[in-house]
Amino acid sequence: MQNSSVDKFNYKIQFTTSTVYFLFSFLLLTSIGCQKDTGITYNEADRTIQITDNINIDNGVRDKKPIFNFTNYEKFLSYVSKSDHFLIVPLKNFKNTNSDNKVVLSVRYDVDDDIDAAVKMAYRSRKYGIVSTFFILHTATYYSKKVGEELIRNPNLIFYLKKIQDSFGQEIGLHNDLVTLQLMYGIAPRQYLKNELAYLRGNGINVWGTSYHGSPYCYIYKYYNAYFWYEYPDNGWNYEYITKGYKTIKIEKDSLSSYNFSYEAGFLGQDYYFADSNSIKGKRWNMGMVNLDTIKPGKKVIILLHPEHWDY
Ligand SMILES: [Zn+2]
Repeated sequence: MQNSSVDKFNYKIQFTTSTVYFLFSFLLLTSIGCQKDTGITYNEADRTIQITDNINIDNGVRDKKPIFNFTNYEKFLSYVSKSDHFLIVPLKNFKNTNSDNKVVLSVRYDVDDDIDAAVKMAYRSRKYGIVSTFFILHTATYYSKKVGEELIRNPNLIFYLKKIQDSFGQEIGLHNDLVTLQLMYGIAPRQYLKNELAYLRGNGINVWGTSYHGSPYCYIYKYYNAYFWYEYPDNGWNYEYITKGYKTIKIEKDSLSSYNFSYEAGFLGQDYYFADSNSIKGKRWNMGMVNLDTIKPGKKVIILLHPEHWDY
């Protein structure tokens, strides 16, 4: 829109001054009108984030929703990054980081379905000097698609992850949907996980940790994806077996160390955990609901955000 306005302006500039003023006012009004229509604002130096020669992410801010928008998200990043109260670390460093005079804070992102929003949030984390952890979901459409009995990876996935990890300095982790994989896709999860990690690590993506995904199937068949791990205790649902139709399926399990994972994000023993997947009195949790300044130094806090809630 901006370029075509400039072209029109250049073309008409040979007319009289009053015509130029008239056209200028007209174009100004038109361009304001256009901005209103799309609702996109560009506060950033980078209007687009390039993933490959053919893939660019529009880095504009839409702010359509009252609370879950990038303006509020950036206010939060600005506040925690400027305050002396917090020591912010990626999750790979969470367990071994302690402080007497600061609150240890990690911001975790579970990228359930919007990789573009994740890239935009990684960009903004970098802008405020924050290193966070982005867990990518191996059953999401941005990661793979099911063809027959197989999951075929998105060949561009690595470029998105490199942008998050290498350009924006963030940690990448794997968002585990492994029990779902066994139950719904009939794929053996141990071999699958070995293959995926070999692929990711072989392509220069450093995966230290994992977090378990709350798939809609978890609520239907009563399991946590964390049940894949021997380290996760039996908490009352279908820890060993799941019944699906006439079939009873024994959940495959393994240890974190078999895959060189140094942590599971759900087993880190934090003092406070806040998540935008939780609901407080019928409202989705957001950072405006807690005063992080009231948390005492020495305490450890994890905040979980889902990118798809914040962009749009
Ligand atoms: Zn998830």
